[in-house]
Amino acid sequence: MSELNNRVVEKYRNNFLKEVEANVEEGDWVKMCMQCGVCAGSCPLGDAWEHTPQKLFMMIRAGKRDEVLSSDAMWMCTSCYNCIVRCPRELPITHIMHGLAHYAARLGLSPKNQPTQKFAQLFWDNLTKTGRVNELKLGLNLYFMNGFSEGVKKSLEMRSIGQGMFFAKRLNPMEILGGHGVKDQAGFHAMLDKAREIEDAKLDKFGK
Ligand code: SF4
Ligand code: SF4
Repeated sequence: MSELNNRVVEKYRNNFLKEVEANVEEGDWVKMCMQCGVCAGSCPLGDAWEHTPQKLFMMIRAGKRDEVLSSDAMWMCTSCYNCIVRCPRELPITHIMHGLAHYAARLGLSPKNQPTQKFAQLFWDNLTKTGRVNELKLGLNLYFMNGFSEGVKKSLEMRSIGQGMFFAKRLNPMEILGGHGVKDQAGFHAMLDKAREIEDAKLDKFGK
C-alpha cells in the first residue's frame, strides 16, 4: 500500500463515506442515492460488471473501502450517460464513476494491469507531450501495450485499416518522427505544471 493511502486511512478512519465526499469528484452526491436501482437497470454493461453503480454507492455507505477502491467496476463505465438522465435523484453517476477510478489510481489501489487505466495513461502521456494527440504513436503504443509479439500481431491485423486511413489522408506516417503540437508549447507546459501544483497541494492536506 502507498504511503499516501496509509495517511488517508488514518485521517478518515472508519468513515469511508466522508473520505469519498472530500476526495472524489462529485462524491458528496453519494449520500443522496435512494437505492432505487434505476441506474443498475439502465447501464448497458451493468450485468458484466463486478458491482453496479447502485451497489457501489451502497458499499461506500457501508464502509467497504477496500472492496470499492480495488474494484474493476468503475473502470468499465463508457460515459454513455444513460444512468444520469434517468436517476430520479439526479446524481452525476458517470462523474462519480470516473472520480472513484481516478481516486483509486492516485492511492495505488486500482487493479493491476487494468486495460482502461493503461489506455488512459497512454493517452495522457501522448497528449501532454505536445498538446495534440499523435494518433499514429497512440495506436502503436496501444497495440504494443501487452508485449512485442502481441503488438506485431495486432499491427498486421489492422494493416488494411491503416492503409485505408493513409489513402484517405487520415494518417500521416511522418507523425512517427514527432508530429504536430500546439503553437505555444511553453504556455501549454506552464499550464500543466500549474495544474500539477494544485493537485499536489490537495495531497498535502493529508500531512506528511
Ligand atoms: S438511479 Fe440514482 S437514486 Fe437510483 S440507485 Fe442509481 S444513483 Fe441511486
Ligand atoms: S454512464 Fe457509465 S455507469 Fe452510467 S449507464 Fe453508462 S456505462 Fe453505466
